[in-house]
Amino acid sequence: MKEQVRAWLEEDKLDLFLGYMMVDGHPLPHVFTRKNLDELDKLVVSPFRYPLEKIAGDIIAAKPDTRIGIMGRDCSQRTLNVLALANQVDPKHIERFNVNCCPTRKDRPECSSMQPRTPGGFKRAAGINPDAEIEEIQAMPQEERFMKWMYEFQKCIRCYGCRNICPVCYCEECSLESSDLVEKGPLPPEAPLFHLLRAVHMAGRCIDCGLCEEACPADIPLRLLYRKVNSIVKDLFDYDTGVSTTLPPFAVCNLTGQQA
Ligand code: SF4
Ligand code: SF4
Repeated sequence: MKEQVRAWLEEDKLDLFLGYMMVDGHPLPHVFTRKNLDELDKLVVSPFRYPLEKIAGDIIAAKPDTRIGIMGRDCSQRTLNVLALANQVDPKHIERFNVNCCPTRKDRPECSSMQPRTPGGFKRAAGINPDAEIEEIQAMPQEERFMKWMYEFQKCIRCYGCRNICPVCYCEECSLESSDLVEKGPLPPEAPLFHLLRAVHMAGRCIDCGLCEEACPADIPLRLLYRKVNSIVKDLFDYDTGVSTTLPPFAVCNLTGQQA
């Protein structure tokens, strides 16, 4: 990868490459350019903890013609597709270098970052197993399901980590910060408004990268929640999130009745 990135930069195929560099033992996002080629020795393939695609979008917003290379994983293309549909990035300006960043879970071969976890006894009894399948949760009696989700939501400390880390959250004005919609009062935020509002916004947009769940200090199974939302989008509108840059964004399909 280092040689490929070096060649791209030296041959002027890219203006910069967005990847990870080890700093004091931590893999942090870093911009590699022709001016700092020597730093390429510190380029690492790291667990993906930052939304590099969103950083690319910010760079393109400031300098639209920048040609960017990006370290990607399986879901990065879906992210770029969603961002392209929303005019946040121009796919022509982005070159992806795909890396298999995480061990593949046997029963989820489509996802490279899913790793099995073992929730503690209380979480198993009161909350939602983050590794559960949607159908498993759906099969619970409605009241039990409701209580379990409410248990999860009331742990939220409204830190906005889930939104800030999300590669497809790009709105400059966020409805989660609107006091008309989400009370600014004492913590925890009123359950389940904050979460349902975000879930609605993720419909047809979430590409199932798992960064939000990884960032959540309250251990809320956010990924499962958004997978459920996207499964509804698929069932009702036959819309597959992030698979194409030629379809209109989901919100537009929804309004016009156009289907994937
Ligand atoms: S899994 Fe979470 S962080 Fe990733 S796209 Fe969906 S909502 Fe955003
Ligand atoms: S990261 Fe977790 S605790 Fe923070 S706002 Fe999101 S759901 Fe709430």
